[in-house]
Amino acid sequence: MQLLDGSSCSEQIRQEIALKVDEIKSRGERVPHLAAVLVGNDGASQNYVAFKIKDCEQVGFNSTTIRMEETTTEQELLDKIAELNADDDIDGFIVQLPVPKHIDDNKVILAIDPRKDVDGFCPENVGNLSLGLPTFISATPNGIMELFRRYNIETEGKHCVVLGRSNIVGTPMAVLMSRNTNPGNATVTIAHSRTKNLKELCASADILIVAIGKTEFVTADMVKEGAVVIDVGQTRVPDSSKKSGFRNVGDVDFENVKDKCSYITYVTGGVGPMTRASLLQNTLKAHQRR
Ligand code: NAP
Repeated sequence: MQLLDGSSCSEQIRQEIALKVDEIKSRGERVPHLAAVLVGNDGASQNYVAFKIKDCEQVGFNSTTIRMEETTTEQELLDKIAELNADDDIDGFIVQLPVPKHIDDNKVILAIDPRKDVDGFCPENVGNLSLGLPTFISATPNGIMELFRRYNIETEGKHCVVLGRSNIVGTPMAVLMSRNTNPGNATVTIAHSRTKNLKELCASADILIVAIGKTEFVTADMVKEGAVVIDVGQTRVPDSSKKSGFRNVGDVDFENVKDKCSYITYVTGGVGPMTRASLLQNTLKAHQRR
């Protein structure tokens, strides 16, 4: 079993990006600038945004965090998005999801200028992904593809089961794995909460990518010997032994599954850092496109 080390891979990516930023600076040009909009006080969202901003600082990007109250109205958020769309100094921005329940996240996504949509959530970017056209690929699936690429994991002709069909992870992941690319060219099955014979289906996968948000859902009997297992899941569970008072638990029962796998990710140091690195790559791309 080899652990796929998202921390070191993402560090490599950050170093590559930092070199590009140095080149930009040496040409006397403006450096990439990412803005993050955070609405409300969700603890996990605050952490995610703080990490994203820290990453920007590390590679030499400019960054801006825009904090908005939990009580922000939908219109106030849409106005802020319009402002960011029009701001020439900002190459790309994200609105950290989930937004408070009284705001329609679809309206939020539709309001973002696709040229600045570095999360890759807008219909235009999702459509381009499906057509194989240049686009911003949603950060988590893109980070997983990058792991396959950097570890030279063969995907062609393999049976890939993607467990979970969300718009931001499962669905774009399945599209990417099925496209005529390397990595890619897999035979893909998308599974979800209505899928029958889930255990047998997962156990038939050469590559199993799990993004459901159910702690340790995938057990050893659901994994084929020699499979590649990617655990996207990240659920906070209370843990008084931790300073933060919680720990993250993945969707895969790592301890009991790992010895069956050829490659596997762990909940920490796996997909999360790769997601963050992808956001930096998309921001650099947005800057270059302009
Ligand atoms: P989501 O929008 O809640 O979607 C969950 C998907 O899982 C849905 O398609 C759902 O099926 C399916 N599902 C739920 N319970 C299931 C079950 N018992 N059997 C089979 N399928 C089931 O989740 P998401 O946004 O994709 O996130 C999934 C997990 O990944 C979460 O833990 C999240 O925190 C984590 N995540 C991590 C990163 C990272 O960078 N590490 C990034 C994004 C998300 P239905 O469609 O039928 O309801």
